[in-house]
Amino acid sequence: MKDELMKMLEEREDEMIEIRRHLHEHPELSFQEEKTAAYIIDFYKGKDVEIETNVGNGHGIIVTINGTLPGKTVGLRADFDALPIHEEANVPFKSVNEGVMHACGHDAHTAYLLILADCLIQLKDQIKGTIKIIHQHAEEQPPGGAKSIVDSGKLDDLEAIFGIHILPLASSGTVGYHSGYSFNGRTYFKLKVQGLGGHGSSPHKANDAIVAGAYFVTAVQTVVSRRVDPMNSGVVTIGSFDGKGSFNVIKDNIEIEGDIRYSNDATQNVIDKEVHRIVKGMEEMFGVTGELTYTPDYPPLYNDPELTTFVADALKEVKDNDIKKVKEFPKMAPSDDFAYYLEKIPGSYFFIGCTPKGVDEPYFNHHPKFDIDEDAILVAAKSVGQVVVSYLDRE
Ligand code: MN
Repeated sequence: MKDELMKMLEEREDEMIEIRRHLHEHPELSFQEEKTAAYIIDFYKGKDVEIETNVGNGHGIIVTINGTLPGKTVGLRADFDALPIHEEANVPFKSVNEGVMHACGHDAHTAYLLILADCLIQLKDQIKGTIKIIHQHAEEQPPGGAKSIVDSGKLDDLEAIFGIHILPLASSGTVGYHSGYSFNGRTYFKLKVQGLGGHGSSPHKANDAIVAGAYFVTAVQTVVSRRVDPMNSGVVTIGSFDGKGSFNVIKDNIEIEGDIRYSNDATQNVIDKEVHRIVKGMEEMFGVTGELTYTPDYPPLYNDPELTTFVADALKEVKDNDIKKVKEFPKMAPSDDFAYYLEKIPGSYFFIGCTPKGVDEPYFNHHPKFDIDEDAILVAAKSVGQVVVSYLDRE
């Protein structure tokens, strides 16, 4: 059956590219993907599947393929939203939606998964178990779509989940994997420090918010340097300190904004605790009020080690002209809300090389000139096809 699936995918490579170009030309921002969702729903019209729309907090779509033979239930996810970026890539299918661009490759993700799903539907008599295809909205903008789809309970029956991201870290034909924590988690915070304003000549009658805020900035530097286990990694960045006032007036209040990153849950917990503690300490020390808005975006992404080894082994065994190389990729700094599925369901998120041919230093995802080698779309379809069939065939 795998050979049959690979052949079917090869025959439909042009169609995958056509879909990708159509989506690329018509990108839509997170939570506003009406036309993209309608296009996906239309693709499945008349096909032998169950389809659920408006899943979660937006345009999420779940398509269920019931294999004829009994077996496990597995999920495959592709995201379909675009970014608020003005496209500068020189392609004939450039975005027609001004200021919006598929600069992260979600167009390619959706294109491969639509065709792979269609081929699996045609092969359902040979499929053991059930495959849930998750077309996910709003990956790019927290709170994202993934958490709400998980919370809907519609994936409670999944025993495993797989997904891919295309990355220009390697040329087309290379598949990357990473076991355990693979992407960082991220938190946004804002701290408003409220003191008491006054005349510059009379500090004893005021309570200086700038001095208190400055101590906070200094003290928070010790979180990563003195509290985080050196074998783990974390970042606390103060990106904004808004304290503009007048040279002879003691400032009443200031506002600080920052960005926190962490490679695993333990580090997240340490940083959370310490930042809150330092705010309390600042209040006590200076007699000011600290109003902290603390918003974790996406958690660190944890690939199940057993299933990641399974993915790597399954793909290394394949004799295929398109899947040329399977290798370990490094841990990476970005965040992805695929992490939410992996908090509940064991699975693996792996990577498909897509560096354009003849390019030594490709533009990375989210760059206005981001471009891909479209050969990577077939590689994605074949790789995920191999993994899902191998997973359902395994005892
Ligand atoms: Mn992405």
